[in-house]
Amino acid sequence: MSKVYETVIGLEVHVELASKTKIFCGCSTAFGGAPNSHTCPVCTGMPGSLPVLNKQVVEYAIAVGLATNCSITQYCKFDRKNYFYPDNPQNYQISQLYLPICRNGGGEIETAAGKKTVGIHEIHMEEDAGKLNHSGATISTSDSSAVDYNRAGVPLIEIVSEPDMRSAAEARAYMENLKAILEYTDVCDCKMQEGSLRCDANISIMPEGAKEFGTRAEIKNLNSFRALERAISYEVERQKEVLEDGGHVVQ
Ligand code: ADP
Ligand code: MG
Ligand code: ZN
Repeated sequence: MSKVYETVIGLEVHVELASKTKIFCGCSTAFGGAPNSHTCPVCTGMPGSLPVLNKQVVEYAIAVGLATNCSITQYCKFDRKNYFYPDNPQNYQISQLYLPICRNGGGEIETAAGKKTVGIHEIHMEEDAGKLNHSGATISTSDSSAVDYNRAGVPLIEIVSEPDMRSAAEARAYMENLKAILEYTDVCDCKMQEGSLRCDANISIMPEGAKEFGTRAEIKNLNSFRALERAISYEVERQKEVLEDGGHVVQ
């Protein structure tokens, strides 16, 4: 007979901020546009160019932190997160790895299962990456891809929840609350179909009543409430089958 499992979910929500210009240069953040028309030496990672922080981005990040009951870090800094991929012309993303601008917040959600508090571990500021186009672009062929850096350097905040949700319905309620807060504080246009609001779902299961969480899998770039719920339902079933077959979930 199969065991009863409990689901554990934590969300990392990416929010493109509504500032007119990018986080470290004066280029436009407008969605779309001719490929690479919103770029300059800073957001294409040219040697010798230097980032200058956009004040509006800090103000937006603090507004979301206050609206989600976080404490605001008085001394914070940015870090380079090194990775090599063509969507990232600098070969590092500027992010906040150690001293995020907001910490220890959270808020209440309500579902059919009742009310509960979902914690927010931190909110940090970072820059978005460019976009690769593997098909359909006039200059990408079967053995090459095209890259558009218009999105590179668009300001993001990443809101990292605690692993406090226990169902797809709770994850949806949390996302809906967050969307309402982002709309009310006017920091994001929240166009999920354009990717201004998207999330990564971390999902694990454990035998009911267990003290230790199971190993999590991460589903990236979910850009609708429906996709979030479906990804969670699918992943929970998949993990159950893996465990029932005596296997291990791979992170
Ligand atoms: P990473 O950057 O490697 O994804 P983070 O610590 O930034 O790691 O994010 C981890 C996310 O995963 C958080 O939202 C957290 O709540 C969630 N999480 C951590 N452990 C588990 C687990 N066992 N099951 C589900 N979610 C988890
Ligand atoms: Mg992650
Ligand atoms: Zn630029």
